[in-house]
Amino acid sequence: MARIVIVGAGISGLAAALEASASQHEVVLLEGSPQVGGKLRLATIAGQQVDVGAESMLARRPEALDLLADLDVQPVHPAAVSASLWTGGALQPMPRGTVMGVPADPAALRQVLTEAEVERAHDERKVVVAEDVSIGDLVEEAVGPAVVDRLVEPLLGGVYAGHARRLSAAVTVPALFAAAQRGELLTEAVRRSTVRTAPTEAPAEPVFAGLRGGVGSLPGHVVRLLVDRGVTVRTGATVRELSRASAGWTVTIGETRSPEVIGADAVVLATPARATARLLASLAPVAAAGLGDIDYASMAIVTYAFKRSESSVFAGSSGFLVPPADGRGIKASTFSSTKWPWLAEAAPALTFVRVSIGRQGEEADLQRSDAELAATGMRELRAALGAVVPRPVAAQVQRWGGALPQYAVGHLDRIAVVRAAVAELPGVEVAGAAYDGVGIPACIGSGRAAAERVLTRLAAG
Ligand SMILES: Cc1cc2nc3c(=O)[nH]c(=O)nc-3n(C[C@H](O)[C@H](O)[C@H](O)COP(=O)(O)OP(=O)(O)OC[C@H]3O[C@@H](n4cnc5c(N)ncnc54)[C@H](O)[C@@H]3O)c2cc1C
Repeated sequence: MARIVIVGAGISGLAAALEASASQHEVVLLEGSPQVGGKLRLATIAGQQVDVGAESMLARRPEALDLLADLDVQPVHPAAVSASLWTGGALQPMPRGTVMGVPADPAALRQVLTEAEVERAHDERKVVVAEDVSIGDLVEEAVGPAVVDRLVEPLLGGVYAGHARRLSAAVTVPALFAAAQRGELLTEAVRRSTVRTAPTEAPAEPVFAGLRGGVGSLPGHVVRLLVDRGVTVRTGATVRELSRASAGWTVTIGETRSPEVIGADAVVLATPARATARLLASLAPVAAAGLGDIDYASMAIVTYAFKRSESSVFAGSSGFLVPPADGRGIKASTFSSTKWPWLAEAAPALTFVRVSIGRQGEEADLQRSDAELAATGMRELRAALGAVVPRPVAAQVQRWGGALPQYAVGHLDRIAVVRAAVAELPGVEVAGAAYDGVGIPACIGSGRAAAERVLTRLAAG
């Protein structure tokens, strides 16, 4: 029996531990902070536990739904309400039939663009690319800057908290990048991907999923199964060092004065890029340099609880996104109690609403007190929805320093170099949001794949 040590108990590390725990090997999961879950977290606001980190999982990919099935947890889905775009001083319905804001037919953008901007989009230029470019530059050249500023930016901002003109087209919107590689018009590619080839009577599958109790309750479910399977889960156990041992590896935790050294036959580093870079600095300097180059966006989520009896203004919509070009103090708002029926049922007297603040490079915006951030959110909610927005009964600010890795142009090449360098360390694997996708399903897939590689290696002796 070998010992597998997994470092970092965000969803990537938890998924890796679950995969490894199905083997006969000993599994130890080490988390530096006081709680498991990483960016999946609950907080109690006005007596109700709500998500203050990730709150929704893409259901078009199998990993999150498969994980729920493994845990014997039923998925729930958002209510059939749509989101809006707050732009030009008005809330507009989010244009339908786009891929990350690029329309099949530019006429669909009439409510959010000027006539001249729609005309420019109609007058699409064919862009042919051989290498990765930023998604913003690609879309701007094809259909004009307004599509980037009003649509692509807020939609990408919701996922990466980043800037369209810096993020890799190849990773963030591979379908559009592939179209440009083929020399195809972007709108044509969108048309093909959004038109149903075989009309069917069956209702459309939900695009997103969650679970009763919130996405932040997922780590707790995973830990219960891990503990049942005999996995050791330790919090407050920051790994400071990874070193070679005569056979395998050692990881060092604890204070410098009283270190604790744990031997391992295999190690999965499921930590954010910078933490992983530090642990690999002397063992794999090329990997460490590549990981150290990955920028992160920081952000804050402000969650408000309102009296339900005063909150009809939040009915009928899941919230809105805000193009950064509009210069507002928030980048999005989610009407959580409208979006998630389980939450409305769990706290029938309250309505929860959250706003997100901050994008990559805008850390200064976050250097304000909690009270100032909460006041900014309220001011912007009133500006968007009117004075009908009531006074909250509670507000909570959750800051996320180093929230989301930025997949800059060339990300795929950078990660290929990192992976090749890590492959030189037998039994060491890396997983997490910095590699193949920031969304929860991608992270679950990344953790599971890393654990599978470890198990394959151990099986081969
Ligand atoms: C506010 C916010 C909202 C989001 N919303 C969504 C959403 O709705 N849907 C979605 O799909 N995605 C969402 N995301 C993205 C997604 O939640 C994250 O990309 C994902 O959870 C990252 O998981 P991870 O395990 O790779 O990393 P993390 O969650 O960052 O976990 C890494 C863990 O490693 C630990 N660690 C670090 N260094 C050490 C060390 N040296 N020793 C031991 N432990 C260490 C950390 O404490 C942390 O717990 C959101 C992200 C944020 C910040």
